[in-house]
Amino acid sequence: MTQLRCLVCGSSQLDPEGYKCGRCGKAMSLRDEGCYVNEETKKKLLDHADELSKFGLALEEREPLKKGIGEILSGVSLALQIVESMHPGSLRDLVRFLRTLAIPEEEILRLRLDEPEQILAYCRGGNTNFRDRYFEALGTQETCKLEAALKLAHEIRKFEIELYWKRATYFWAFQLVAFTTAGLLIKDGQVNSSGWMLLPASIGVVTAFAGYLTACGSKFWQENWEAHVDLLEDQTQRRLTQVIVGCGAPQFSVSRVNQAVLLLLTVAWGLVAIVAAVPAAGELITRIPPMYRGVTVLVVLLLICSWMRFSRVTRLNGREFRFGDANWVEIPSHDSGMPKRKDDPFIIWRDLLGEQRLRKPDVPEDGSM
Ligand SMILES: [Zn+2]
Repeated sequence: MTQLRCLVCGSSQLDPEGYKCGRCGKAMSLRDEGCYVNEETKKKLLDHADELSKFGLALEEREPLKKGIGEILSGVSLALQIVESMHPGSLRDLVRFLRTLAIPEEEILRLRLDEPEQILAYCRGGNTNFRDRYFEALGTQETCKLEAALKLAHEIRKFEIELYWKRATYFWAFQLVAFTTAGLLIKDGQVNSSGWMLLPASIGVVTAFAGYLTACGSKFWQENWEAHVDLLEDQTQRRLTQVIVGCGAPQFSVSRVNQAVLLLLTVAWGLVAIVAAVPAAGELITRIPPMYRGVTVLVVLLLICSWMRFSRVTRLNGREFRFGDANWVEIPSHDSGMPKRKDDPFIIWRDLLGEQRLRKPDVPEDGSM
C-alpha cells in the first residue's frame, strides 16, 4: 500500500474514508502509474534521463490513457520507476538536481518521490542557497576548474596542517626554556628566590597564551581549507573526506587537545606568577594543611581531565550507519558524537558546511496547491 500516493502532493496519507489524499483531498493512484506533470517538466526530465538514471530514477513513456474510443488525453504520460532502496542522501541529491533544472516545487511533488514534507524540506532547507552563494563567490561552476580548485585546496590543507604542528613546536621550545629556568631556581624542594620565579612564570604565561592563540588561528585556516575540500568534492561527485568508516567510537581531536594543554599551561604559569609576585599568597598556601592541599590538587586534576575528555571529542554531524542497523540514523548536533554501541563497525556520512539538519520541515497548511 505504500505505493499509493496522491497525484498532486505525493502524500501516502489517506483520508478517513480511505480513498482520497488525507493531506490535500486529491485523488490517489499507484506510484508507478503516470505522473501528472506539465509538458515543460516532462521535457526537462526526458532531456536529462541519463543523469536521472544515475540517481536511481528510470523514466518510462507510456501510451496515452484512452478515454473511450478515439478520445485521447493530451500528451505522453510519464511514469517513474524509483529504486526502492534509495537512501535519504540520494533522494536529497536527486531533489537538489531537479531544482538545478529549475523544476518548480509543486511539479517535483507531483513526481511522488516521497512524502511531501520530506521533499519540501529537501527543496527549501539544506544548503542549496549556501552552496549557490559559495560557487558565486568562487566565480565558477565549470567542472574542470572546480577539479583544479579541489586539488589546490587539498594541497594547501596539507600544508596548513604541517604549519600547525611546526608553530606548535616553536611555542613548546619556549615552554622548555621556562621550565628549565624554574627548575634552576628550585633547590631541595624549596624556591631559592621567589622574586626571580617571576621570570620563568612570565615567559611561561606569555608563550603559552601566544601558542594558544596561534593554534586557534591555524585551526581556523585549516578548517577553511577543509570546508573548501568538502564543498568542492561534493560538487565534483566525490565524497572521500565526507565519509568516515571505522570501528568503535570516533576519537578525540588531536589539535583541540593541544589547544587545551596550552590553555591549561597559561593558567598554571599565571598561578605561579601570582605566588611569585605576592609573597602573602605563597604563605597562605603553605599554611593549608598538606592533606587538604593534596585532595584539592587531585580534585582539580580530575576536573581538568574530565573537561578534556568530554569537550575535545571530534565533532561530527550527519548520518550514521551502524552494523546491524536497518538504515541511516541522524547524528544530532547536540550529541557529543559518541555512538551508543562500542565495537560495531560504522559509516558516518558527515554533513557539509552550512547544511542544516532537516528536522522540522516547514510545510504549508493547505498542501501547496
Ligand atoms: Zn495530496
